[in-house]
Amino acid sequence: MDILDRSAVIAEEITSDFFAFSSSHWARHPYEIKTLREAGNVDFPHRTYAHLMRYDSPVSAKVSGSASYELYHICLHDHNILEETGGLQEKLLPFMVYVLSHELVHIARFSRHHCNLLSDEKNSEEEIVHSITHRMLDGVPVTGIDMVLERFSHHCGAS
Ligand SMILES: [Zn+2]
Repeated sequence: MDILDRSAVIAEEITSDFFAFSSSHWARHPYEIKTLREAGNVDFPHRTYAHLMRYDSPVSAKVSGSASYELYHICLHDHNILEETGGLQEKLLPFMVYVLSHELVHIARFSRHHCNLLSDEKNSEEEIVHSITHRMLDGVPVTGIDMVLERFSHHCGAS
């Protein structure tokens, strides 16, 4: 849990820097990080480390000044993450930084484009997000991040 908090702080900083977000960005596009059990144990056909849920709830224009309010849930497939990293701190931190940064890139793109992807567009969006995450994390001072980038490099066409 301590590693989760630290990786969340690092991932948010890196993403904010990369997209040049102001400090209020994540307040306007809030997200919560959940474990799979908290998220209700959704079944996924493939080995997945996290998935993203978006909730839109209309709120009064008087309250928010805008027509709708969005909330994201980053749902961690913690059993897969622990299996992948063996639960070792030195592996878990860079891996979590990657997984969370990846999901934050999804949120960043959703919140910019307000897009709802059709299912046949999802694969290319996935590649784009992997590619951005790769560029974003390349060279950041997080021990072990190189190995994680290598691990995911086939997803973004990088060699
Ligand atoms: Zn993704």
